[in-house]
Amino acid sequence: MVLIMQGKPVAEKIKAGLQKKFQGKNLQLAILLVGNDEASHVYANRLAKTAKNLDVATQKVELPFTATQQDVEAALEKLNADPAVQGILPMMPLPIHLNAQKLCQKLVPEKDMDCLNPLNAGGVFLGTNPWAPCTPRACLAILDYYHIDLAGKNVVVLGRSNVVGKPVAMLLLQKNATVTICHSKTQNLPAILRQADIIVAAIGRAEFVEPSMVKEGVVIVDVGINARGDKLVGDVAATVAGKAAAFTPVPGGVGVVSNVMVMEALSRCIK
Ligand code: NAP
Repeated sequence: MVLIMQGKPVAEKIKAGLQKKFQGKNLQLAILLVGNDEASHVYANRLAKTAKNLDVATQKVELPFTATQQDVEAALEKLNADPAVQGILPMMPLPIHLNAQKLCQKLVPEKDMDCLNPLNAGGVFLGTNPWAPCTPRACLAILDYYHIDLAGKNVVVLGRSNVVGKPVAMLLLQKNATVTICHSKTQNLPAILRQADIIVAAIGRAEFVEPSMVKEGVVIVDVGINARGDKLVGDVAATVAGKAAAFTPVPGGVGVVSNVMVMEALSRCIK
């Protein structure tokens, strides 16, 4: 029988641990929003709700789409210097006229909740930074919760973004998986996917992975969140469940856990 790897029990378990840790600590998460990206605002509201449940205060710093690089950097520097703020999450993507890389370099590493500062990102590649970006940590937490063994397994990561594909590949490698990273220029993608014991899909293409592209018994971690009409679907077609041993649903899988991982990243400031 196929195992549906729901995110909720994973998130609840992590939250239970955090509740105790955060009690009486007066933690505050700052969310920096520039412009009107709808998905960023929805995500920020969800985070604020999760934070409230964990007794963590949130501060939303909102700047208009027309904000200059200097305006955004000034807002970030203020949060960097604020002793009442322990965590900062600049929401991506930034408006196209802004330089996200330059901004991320200004984010103090200790308050960097999603591993955006290059020093933190470098630590993930060296295996010295336990605070990898939230979504890759969520993928690993789900696999761990459902006892999916990674050592020696062929894992294909679909997508090579700095926030999901590349770091999740590094975390899987640290768990001794044999990792292949695929992207939009990969040739013979279905043949590569058919070799996979586990697929982590993070490309942002609705129901891209079809049953003919996977082998029987594959484990699917579907990171994708795509709007299809008034529904949300993943990067993997629902029909793949018929061949899979286990899969994460969309919605209700990785996204639920990613949210809590932002909060977990705050625990690094508790000595
Ligand atoms: P991204 O920055 O747009 O990167 C997409 C990656 O997919 C790129 O590496 C791209 O290749 C690759 N790609 C695109 N089309 C492809 C194709 N047809 N075949 C093979 N590879 C292809 O996206 P992202 O930020 O990593 O996010 C990916 C998905 O995860 C999105 O749906 C996003 O909404 C979702 N997401 C979910 C969560 C969560 O908590 N569940 C968190 C973050 C993101 P190139 O590099 O060659 O262009």
